[in-house]
Amino acid sequence: MKLTAIAVALLALVGMGPAHAQTAEISRNGSRPSAMGSAQYFTGSVIVEPLFRANEHMHASGGLVTFAPGARSAWHSHPAGQILIVTSGTGWVQEKGGEKRAVRPGDVVWTPPGVMHWHGATATTSMSHIAITNMRDGKNVEWMQKVSDEEYGK
Ligand code: MN
Repeated sequence: MKLTAIAVALLALVGMGPAHAQTAEISRNGSRPSAMGSAQYFTGSVIVEPLFRANEHMHASGGLVTFAPGARSAWHSHPAGQILIVTSGTGWVQEKGGEKRAVRPGDVVWTPPGVMHWHGATATTSMSHIAITNMRDGKNVEWMQKVSDEEYGK
């Protein structure tokens, strides 16, 4: 009994020891190349700056997305949801069946899994947001048709 207790205590110590510790990682600004948003999934000029990838512990990826005036994503949904944190400009978000809604710096938008929506700049101002997108079975987005000028202008 006493030996078992000691063994458990030792195991606990080993488990917390430096041999098992992981170190904090800093991904430096400038080390992650920007990309243009694909014309297949975006309308207008969109720049995507990757921030972090999903890993064994973090089941989401993050990116800073900047939309030029008039630019927007296609309609899409996220199998495990998405958070948008607006960092500059003024933009619009809309979900299927809902009104277009204005978003501004400091606004945080949660889109639940499977909800069809789009996000982008307004017609006259750019908009940037950080997108944190959950991953399910290696997938984080389901793309649909583009947002037409008529839908965008409503
Ligand atoms: Mn989205």
